Amino acid sequence: MTLSQRALEIGAKVEAFVRETVIPYEADPRCGSHGPSDALVMEMRGKARAAGVLTPHILPDGSHLTQRETAHVLRLSGLSPLGPLAVNTMAPDEGNMYLLGKVGSEAQKARFLAPLVAGTARSAFFMTEPASEGGAGSDPSMMQTTARLDGNHWVIDGRKAFITGAQGASVGIVMAKAEDGASLFLVDLPDPAIRIDRILDTIDSSMPGGHAIVTIDNLRVPPEQMLGAPGEGFKYAQVRLSPARLSHCMRWLGACVRAHEIAAAYACRRHAFGKPLVDHEGVGFMLAENLIDLKQAELMIDWCADVLDTGVLGTVESSMTKVAVSEALFRIADRCVQVMGGTGVSRDTIVEQVFREIRAFRIYDGPTEVHKWSLAKKIKRDALKA
Ligand SMILES: Cc1cc2nc3c(=O)[nH]c(=O)nc-3n(C[C@H](O)[C@H](O)[C@H](O)COP(=O)(O)OP(=O)(O)OC[C@H]3O[C@@H](n4cnc5c(N)ncnc54)[C@H](O)[C@@H]3O)c2cc1C
Repeated sequence: MTLSQRALEIGAKVEAFVRETVIPYEADPRCGSHGPSDALVMEMRGKARAAGVLTPHILPDGSHLTQRETAHVLRLSGLSPLGPLAVNTMAPDEGNMYLLGKVGSEAQKARFLAPLVAGTARSAFFMTEPASEGGAGSDPSMMQTTARLDGNHWVIDGRKAFITGAQGASVGIVMAKAEDGASLFLVDLPDPAIRIDRILDTIDSSMPGGHAIVTIDNLRVPPEQMLGAPGEGFKYAQVRLSPARLSHCMRWLGACVRAHEIAAAYACRRHAFGKPLVDHEGVGFMLAENLIDLKQAELMIDWCADVLDTGVLGTVESSMTKVAVSEALFRIADRCVQVMGGTGVSRDTIVEQVFREIRAFRIYDGPTEVHKWSLAKKIKRDALKA
């Protein structure tokens, strides 16, 4: 399917903004180890707003670009690790906006979605629980956080882990087990009943607020803040997950395109043993393999986006794409580091950061093995049906 004119135009504006305005911020001291400061994010968003590229995947009338169009725009926003933050296409907000747009009531959209689309607030998605306490991780059915009715309010108690951006977020989507099953609740943040115990020191450093361990203690939520119907939490998580895991692929593809550009420029400039590195077959082949992996990743993302655009959940396709793309992008980032020698592991370029961050992408939104395991179950089901 050819790309629409509007996607090409939005993409061109986003690319110009990221390359000209965002990339210079990569050296800003406000990019801390627990993620860029909110002051930095808001400063970049002010510039994105002025340039007409803030929240570019949601149109002024509130409608969403198709997944195929989103793939083009989000890939270009990802050319810098700061790009998605600057133009408001970042995780977890992009997925949370999508879910709220699909499932939220009009009142919920006005209160919780509007500030996210305007880029004036951040959000967090509270699903995973501490592994050390036997909570939900790869297997969400192990959920220990509870929601019980007390009068007409829900009361939520539990512990959560790896909650990206919880520190500094204004909107939370909390998953808890109610009598009818897992349910989602919208909450204003900060709330004294949601305590941030600590921010984890992790391999990645691009998410504002980092990843938090959280205690939820006697959180009272009025009934109108339940997102969707009771007991439907896992179903809604699926609504969010397929596009959200695909949008991670889109953004990280952009980051790897840029890492490859940097590595290719290094290999063409830098000499060893009397000729440019690129003319040594070992280096040239690594860059050639990058090109092949980049194109395969792009095609697979576009294929999955087309499937989602038909209106199906696309669980199988998004699992296949998430595995193939996250593994391919990890190989690309690793080769970029190798091609650049010592410079590749230094923080003089973003190649080192892309390599670190891509590692975590093979785990979040479903580890590779969990996706392969669910695909194997489907293979068995289909074979036994035949
Ligand atoms: C950077 C980052 C950001 C995150 N942000 C959020 C967030 O904002 N909100 C949130 O709720 N969660 C978040 N998470 C949590 C993430 O969703 C979980 O880490 C993920 O679901 C895996 O759960 P776990 O860490 O408990 O691993 P475990 O469940 O302990 O699994 C460990 C490993 O076991 C293997 N495994 C598990 N099941 C199977 C299987 N069926 N077959 C084969 N192998 C298997 C896999 O190799 C897996 O990596 C984030 C995680 C990271 C790393």
